[in-house]
Amino acid sequence: MWKIEGIPASAGIAIGQIMHIEESVSDFSRVVDPSEISKEKERFLAAQQVAETELDALQERTALTVGEHQAEVFAAHKLMVQDPSLVDAVFEEIQTNCASAEAAVETAAEAIASMFASMDNEYMRERAADIKDIAKRLVRILQGKVDDVQYTGILVAQDLLPSDTACIDFDCVSGFITALGGKTSHSSILARAAGLAAVVGVGNVIEKLNNGDMVIIDGHVGQVLVNPEESVLEEYRQRMLAEQARIAALAEISHLASVTIDGHHIEVASNIGTPADMKKVLEAGADGVGLFRTEFLFLDKTSVPTEEEQVESYRAVLTAAPDKKIVIRTLDAGGDKQLPFIGGLKEENPALGLRAIRLCMVYKDIFKTQLRALLRASVEGNLHIMFPMIATLDELLDAKALLKEVADELTKEGVPHRADVPVGIMIEVPSAAVIADILAPEVDFFSIGTNDLVQYTMAADRMNEHVAWLSDYFQPPVIRLIANVAKAAQEHGKWVGMCGEMAGDSLATPLLVGLGLTELSMNARSVPMVKNLVRKLTVEQAKEWAKQVLILRTTAEIKGKLEEINKSFEL
Ligand code: PEP
Ligand code: MG
Repeated sequence: MWKIEGIPASAGIAIGQIMHIEESVSDFSRVVDPSEISKEKERFLAAQQVAETELDALQERTALTVGEHQAEVFAAHKLMVQDPSLVDAVFEEIQTNCASAEAAVETAAEAIASMFASMDNEYMRERAADIKDIAKRLVRILQGKVDDVQYTGILVAQDLLPSDTACIDFDCVSGFITALGGKTSHSSILARAAGLAAVVGVGNVIEKLNNGDMVIIDGHVGQVLVNPEESVLEEYRQRMLAEQARIAALAEISHLASVTIDGHHIEVASNIGTPADMKKVLEAGADGVGLFRTEFLFLDKTSVPTEEEQVESYRAVLTAAPDKKIVIRTLDAGGDKQLPFIGGLKEENPALGLRAIRLCMVYKDIFKTQLRALLRASVEGNLHIMFPMIATLDELLDAKALLKEVADELTKEGVPHRADVPVGIMIEVPSAAVIADILAPEVDFFSIGTNDLVQYTMAADRMNEHVAWLSDYFQPPVIRLIANVAKAAQEHGKWVGMCGEMAGDSLATPLLVGLGLTELSMNARSVPMVKNLVRKLTVEQAKEWAKQVLILRTTAEIKGKLEEINKSFEL
C-alpha cells in the first residue's frame, strides 16, 4: 500500500478501482497542401456547428441529472466555441501555416489557454481548462469520433473537464482524483454537488496509478490509499457503510424542526446559486435560504440580465418557498468573479479591489436594475435583501439610500412592491466585524461570511492552497470577531446568522449557537446533519462552551475542545 496526499475537495469515503479518463490522441496530420486551405476552414466551421449542437444537448442533460447551475458551463462553452477570437485564430493558423483544422484548433486553443492561465484572477485562470475542453471536443469531432466511453469506479485525470463530467453516470462512479485543481475547480464543485468523494491537486503522481488499481479515497482529509491491504480495506468499508447509514438516517428526520432542547429555534437554511437549487433545499428540509449568490445569474453571460429576467429568477425562488425566509444577496462580482461585460479593469489585487458593493456603487445602473427587480419580486414571499462586502457605515448608508430611491421610483410608477423588506449585510470584511456596534442600528440582520472574513483577517488568499493552514475559520482572531459581531447584534436586538462554509461544519455548531447565532446557512447536503445537532443542544450549555472556547489560544486547542464537545453527543 502507498499513499497520495492532496486537497480534500469533497468529503466522504470512496472505495473502488481506478479508471483513467482517456486523453484524446493526436493522430492527425498537422499540415495540409495549400490547395486544401479553404476545405480545412470549411471542416472547422462544420465541426463548430456539431460542437454547438452537442453542447446544447449536454446542457440539457446535465440540467436534468446534476442541476441547472452545473449545466450553465456548457452554455459558456458554446459562447467560447462561437467566439470570433477563436475562429480568427484558427483561420489565421490554417491560412498562414497551412495547418490542418485539428492542428489549428490545438494551436489556437493553447495560445488562448496560456493567456487565461497567466491572468492574476483565479476565475479567469480556471477558464484555461474550459478552452482546452472545447479544443478537445472540436478535435474529436473533426476526427469523426463520438463521445461514448462508459466511466465507472474512481476516475483519475489531469483535470476533470466539464464535458468529461457530463458524460459520467453518477450511479457508476464513486470518486475523483485529479492532478490539477483546487477547491474551486469545476471537478471539485461538481463532486460536492453530486456527493462524491474527491481529492484534487495531487500532481504527477497520477501517472503511477494503473487502470484497475484498488484505491480508497478519504475526501475528509485529502488522502488516497493505493492497493491497500485487506485489513485497511475492511476498516474503510465499515467507515463508508457507517457514513452512508448515517446520511440516510439523518435524511429521514431532516423535516423535524431545528429547535434546541431548551426551546430555541436555530434556523438551518441553505445557500443557493440559481433558482433550480431550490429543489435540493426543500428536499434537505432547510428552513429557507440564507444566501442566494445572485452573481451566478450574471457570470457566463455576455450582457447584464434584464430587469424582467431577474424578476423571474427572484420570483422563482420566492414562490418555491413562499412561507420561508429567503435572503437574496445583491451582486457580489469582481474579485474572483469577474463579469464579462465589465471589462478593462486591471487590478493588482482583485480581492482587495473593486468588488461587490464597491463595484455596484460605481456601476449604479446595473445595481439599480437589480434592486428594482428584487423589490418587484418581493410581493411574492418573505424576501430579505443583503449587501455584500460592507466595510464602512457610509457604504451601508449609501446602499440603503439607493434602495430607497429605487423604491420611491417604483411607488411613483405605481409598480407593486413591499415597503418593509428587511435589509441586512454580510459581515465578511474585518473592519465591519470590528464596528459591528456602529452598523447594527442601521440593519435588520447580519450574516457572517467566514470565507472572506477568514481570508481578510488572516491575510491568506482563500484560493491559495499554499497558505491553507491560515485559511481556517477556527483561528482565534476569527472566533473573536464572530463573538464581537454576535454581541453587537444582540445588544441592538438584531438577529445574526452565518452563510460562510463554517456554518455547515457541525464541529462549529455548538460554538456558533453558544455565541448567539440564530441562523446557519449552508450547502443543502449539510442541512440534515446540522439540524440534528441543533436538536441535541441547549443554548445554556452552548453559551458555557463558547466562553471556554473564546479563551483558547490556538486553532489546535479550539478544534480539540470542539471535538471533545461533539463526542459528548450521540450523533
Ligand atoms: C463568504 O465570504 O463567506 C461568503 C458566503 O461569500 P462568498 O463565498 O460568495 O464570497
Ligand atoms: Mg464573500
